Amino acid sequence: MTEDCIFCKIINGDFGTEFVYENKYAVVFKDINPKAPIHLLVVPRVHTESLNELEDKNLMGELLQTVKDVTKKIGLKSYKTLINTGKEAGQEVFHLHIHILGN
Ligand code: 5GP
Ligand code: ZN
Repeated sequence: MTEDCIFCKIINGDFGTEFVYENKYAVVFKDINPKAPIHLLVVPRVHTESLNELEDKNLMGELLQTVKDVTKKIGLKSYKTLINTGKEAGQEVFHLHIHILGN
């Protein structure tokens, strides 16, 4: 856990955020400010600022498997995935995450 990281705090249970899905590698919860009718965030348990800092090659595979598993669980067959990397690209929370956007 990294201090002052909002997603680390959520993973730690500090805000009582409900997890839609979780496994060994990641937790999935609803975006607080949804940009689509279904807007989930897949967040790795290990703190990494962004894709630029990611060193664990296997982790991205596990995160995409998590996307597949959570969408199957909730019956969402059609969706977009998005990763913002860097401030100029719109990254606001500097803990790597994948957006899932669906209708
Ligand atoms: P980014 O712009 O970094 O790719 O996405 C960060 C996302 O996290 C935004 O869509 C924002 O609405 C969401 N977010 C920021 N703070 C919180 C929070 O405390 N709880 C939840 N559930 N989502 C958050
Ligand atoms: Zn973090």
